[in-house]
Amino acid sequence: MKSPGVSYITACPVGCTAALNDTTLQLREGALRRCSSCGQLLSSASEARYSETMAQFDDSTFNVITGRAQARRDAVARKRLARIAALLGKSPQDIRLCDVGCSRGQFVAAALAAGFNAEGVEPAPQIAQVTRDAGLPVHTGLLEDRHYEDASFDALTLFEVVEHLRAPLPLLAECRRVLKPGGILMISTGNAASWTAAAMGARWDYFDMARDGGHISFFNPRSMAMLAAGAGFEVECIDTARVKFHDRENTPRWRYTAGKLLAEALNLPARLLGHGHDMLAWLRKPAQ
Ligand SMILES: [Zn+2]
Repeated sequence: MKSPGVSYITACPVGCTAALNDTTLQLREGALRRCSSCGQLLSSASEARYSETMAQFDDSTFNVITGRAQARRDAVARKRLARIAALLGKSPQDIRLCDVGCSRGQFVAAALAAGFNAEGVEPAPQIAQVTRDAGLPVHTGLLEDRHYEDASFDALTLFEVVEHLRAPLPLLAECRRVLKPGGILMISTGNAASWTAAAMGARWDYFDMARDGGHISFFNPRSMAMLAAGAGFEVECIDTARVKFHDRENTPRWRYTAGKLLAEALNLPARLLGHGHDMLAWLRKPAQ
């Protein structure tokens, strides 16, 4: 299968100048390519396909969660906020935090509830508006549009943002500029070196642009560390977690259950060996 049109991504987003080689992972948009230096996997999607799938984010009903899913997400947010406070060695009320690409503002709300001085920026205008209507301090636009002063923040978070970007380095440079020396940048994204990705191949749902709009760039712990270094950050640690082999909807029940049991048994080794599905990078702007 040949990729339709010219690929939106033409160079490794991490900043490598190495060749991008076709892999055997065939998606609807064409073969995924791999950077021969850092192993980053890249979509062959055209710019038109990228824009079409990104459009789903600007819908006031996008990403609405309730009930147990909301409670689980709030618990995860509280854990992450506690880690940020511990890494900074500060109390929540002394921490100014911005969630960049904050979607419906769940993390901003959790940070405010925990006593942080928190705000968010979100480029999708409709989502930003419903979030403001709910009373949260969220600005429409990109971080760069806000023109914050140098060293404005103690902490910044980028949840599920970098996999959407053809060129993440300018955003990371802006994060570095607006962070205080010693400030923390937390990045979350999928792990293309996970056992889940290895087992599911081209069927890994994280690769599916129709399901996860605009996913075009897939990191592994090594490429994440290279991105961080390229943007002038120190790596505190890069954690990975979770193994998952099947989607409940598309799998016979016995197979789903067997896959789930195996995945649960592998959760701990995946975490220890850096092969979990979710990757969390804890980065610090150097103090000097
Ligand atoms: Zn690379």
